[in-house]
Amino acid sequence: MADSRDACVVWFRRDLRLSDQPTLLAAADAAPRALALFVLDPRLLGPSGPARRTFLYGCLRELDAALGGKLLVVRGDPADVVPRIAKAVGAATVHIAADFGPYGRERDEVVEKSLAADGCELVRSGSPYAVAPGRVTKGDGGPFKVFTPFRRAWADHGWRAPAETGPRTVEWIDPADKDGGPRAVGIPDDEKVDAELPEPGEAAALRRWTEFLDGGVEDYGGTRDRPDKPGTSRMSVYLKYGCIHPRTILADLARQRSASAGTYRTEIAWREFYADVLHQRPDSARKNYDRAFDALPVASGKGAEERFAAWKEGRTGFPIVDAGMRQLREQAWMHNRVRMIVASFLVKDLHLPWWWGARYFMQLLVDGDLASNQHGWQWTAGSGTDASPYFRIFNPITQGERFDPDGDYVRRFVPELGGIPGKQVHQPWKLQDGIPDGYPEPIVDHKVEREEALARYERVKAARR
Ligand SMILES: Cc1cc2nc3c(=O)[nH]c(=O)nc-3n(C[C@H](O)[C@H](O)[C@H](O)COP(=O)(O)OP(=O)(O)OC[C@H]3O[C@@H](n4cnc5c(N)ncnc54)[C@H](O)[C@@H]3O)c2cc1C
Repeated sequence: MADSRDACVVWFRRDLRLSDQPTLLAAADAAPRALALFVLDPRLLGPSGPARRTFLYGCLRELDAALGGKLLVVRGDPADVVPRIAKAVGAATVHIAADFGPYGRERDEVVEKSLAADGCELVRSGSPYAVAPGRVTKGDGGPFKVFTPFRRAWADHGWRAPAETGPRTVEWIDPADKDGGPRAVGIPDDEKVDAELPEPGEAAALRRWTEFLDGGVEDYGGTRDRPDKPGTSRMSVYLKYGCIHPRTILADLARQRSASAGTYRTEIAWREFYADVLHQRPDSARKNYDRAFDALPVASGKGAEERFAAWKEGRTGFPIVDAGMRQLREQAWMHNRVRMIVASFLVKDLHLPWWWGARYFMQLLVDGDLASNQHGWQWTAGSGTDASPYFRIFNPITQGERFDPDGDYVRRFVPELGGIPGKQVHQPWKLQDGIPDGYPEPIVDHKVEREEALARYERVKAARR
């Protein structure tokens, strides 16, 4: 490739879209032509699991098509690959959306140094968030640890209008035209995934968002907690891969009048809050945010492994928990209310470490996102920010009866219980004919384990004194 320095690189990562894409404006300002690049990084692909990898490959195919087949996909360590490619195209700048995750931030710093050695600049424009993590701070300049004041400060800070960009904002270099350039590996084939995955890509994200805006957002406040109803937006996977930017979502919500639009905006704020917390405390991805919880005794050994296996398989004998775990396998997604129920069950009924559950979720979830997942788990476990007090322990039976009042959600995912009408499905052990064949007895007694959880929590309280 030529080395005239009349080109730049747009390095796509978690921003697989062309509309509302500030990196394209920066690239168009920097050079007349740009190379679109995606690096398949084994360090990220490995832990992603087949559902997320396959969804990602689908998004890349869509992006490539939108770029007229001009997306260069290479494999390797970005610290080696990106500077090599920048040099090959004669780029003076490489454009990215800033990454605030623990791995992404470090990776970008290494790439930045290596590019600088060749006289090339890494230019950050925007991020996957409406307000970049670290930007909103308390009056004393410190980070927020509690959601509600964060949300207020976040809303007061505000965000830019969506960037007006599209496929023609930049003149794209065709990587196939060039001699001696980097070798493309192409987009890998889909993997074998048992779960039914959402349609990948930017066009699918915008379609789903429009459908939700036109049909669902008005009722969102009333139905978002009901796993038996299609009441939520299913936008998490598209936000995860940047097929849509939250700014676009927030701009559309601002034109809505309903109270539910405000509720939805609050959920977007949770995503931004957890990204901010992980940015301030990268260690909280693997460790208790509240270190007093290090004193909480957790189960281990064969018994713990067996209970964990029953939880993963959806064979705990608690219908709402089992339905959730089976939804996770069938759809690589789980309803938020049920994520909280199954997480509480793992931590407070089975006394297992939250990070076992978080790791399993990250293997299976198509929307698996380090900040939202680890902090969703820690919120439920009580060890996170703004924690639900530890002594508030979800009762899986009453949660089921309250949020799946007719039992439709359980019957949909637990076919062994398909013949039990109404809410009786939440307590099959109370049926006159006994538990239906093939469905297990409850593996624990919730009342007993609740007391046990509270007794264990005393150790955390003692550690605080
Ligand atoms: C234990 C646990 C693990 C979780 N793991 C993840 C995860 O890996 N990835 C992920 O995106 N979300 C995670 N969440 C948050 C939430 O469950 C999902 O964002 C939501 O279920 C996605 O479905 P939806 O898009 O239909 O949500 P909607 O109800 O339509 O919400 C709209 C958007 O708001 C954001 N949002 C909603 N609730 C939360 C929340 N509690 N925390 C952060 N953002 C939120 C998401 O971006 C979501 O797409 C987790 C929650 C818990 C309790």
